[in-house]
Amino acid sequence: MEKIKFKLREFAKERDWDQFHSPKNLSMALSSEVGELLDLLQWKSEKNSEVDKLSEKELDHIREELADIFLYLIRIADKLDVNLIEVAEKKIIKNGIKYPVKISKGNSKKYNRRDE
Ligand SMILES: [Mg+2]
Repeated sequence: MEKIKFKLREFAKERDWDQFHSPKNLSMALSSEVGELLDLLQWKSEKNSEVDKLSEKELDHIREELADIFLYLIRIADKLDVNLIEVAEKKIIKNGIKYPVKISKGNSKKYNRRDE
């Protein structure tokens, strides 16, 4: 992760793109890349979006969009001085508290909609 972070810094520096890489702009770019991923999957049935139902060409496109998403995420975290691994680990713990196995097992309801 650190290695990629420094490669992205270098990539932006070489192109003088750091001036464009505000957290706001990077977040918008991240959202666009998520849109590109959605575009590849949106009209497929849930079953047909599984790995064994996708062609190698489709999987190649998906891999590229996932890489774009990952790279923007790392870049945003870098610009905001966020340690992604640290916050992800904290968030998993927080989610575990929000969604205890006893209540959430086999249930896809959001924590604040359990009573509906
Ligand atoms: Mg893309």
